[in-house]
Amino acid sequence: MPYCIGLTGGIGSGKSSAATIFSELGTEIIDTDEISHALTQAGGEAMPSIVAAFGPEVVADDGSLDRAAMRKLVFSNPEHRRRLEGILHPLIGKETRSRFSRSEAPYVILVVPLLLEAGGYRDLVRRTLVIDCDESQQIRRATQRNGLSEATVKAVMTAQLPRQQRLSLADDIIRNDGDIAELREQVIALHQQYQSYSEIKAGGGDKSDLGSPV
Ligand code: ADP
Repeated sequence: MPYCIGLTGGIGSGKSSAATIFSELGTEIIDTDEISHALTQAGGEAMPSIVAAFGPEVVADDGSLDRAAMRKLVFSNPEHRRRLEGILHPLIGKETRSRFSRSEAPYVILVVPLLLEAGGYRDLVRRTLVIDCDESQQIRRATQRNGLSEATVKAVMTAQLPRQQRLSLADDIIRNDGDIAELREQVIALHQQYQSYSEIKAGGGDKSDLGSPV
């Protein structure tokens, strides 16, 4: 089994951007958001249960999940949120574990936005990498990226761990306050580190052999 790095961070912090750079360096990425999107495309495995639970109002014309409609429902009502998670999480977990166990990569980056909040994947994740930037930048990037309102982004942030708490749980931190080149430099340094970890693991060691993290 590959050495597993859990990559997380708040909305707009730069998780996808960091994962893309890891991927360009040849790292295998398992992205739970991407799996979630696939499950909620037209004909996706989660759609029948979602329609049964929430009705046809949450289905877009093309048969995929209407994300804006669903987001509204979920943020206005915690019960809806739990119900949606009850449908999606087991399916995402099943697909994630299946991809992980099939992987022949030395190490895998597992992208999980709520890794620390939900406490999932503890059995897989050997190190936690947090992508961090200050909150005003998070809001700016998240609103610019997909046209979400500032209020929506703030509502998402409220459902996520406060920044300091997230940082206190990290093994590794990438500060994404600069430009993409600075992000890339930090990813390259960690990639080298993670490759050496997976070599130690291949030699039969575990996290206790790693010495102090950078
Ligand atoms: P997340 O996956 O954590 O929600 P993204 O990686 O999608 O965040 O980044 C949010 C937005 O900010 C994207 O439009 C992305 O291109 C942009 N972005 C991320 N990091 C940087 C950076 N260092 N410099 C400029 N833009 C960035």
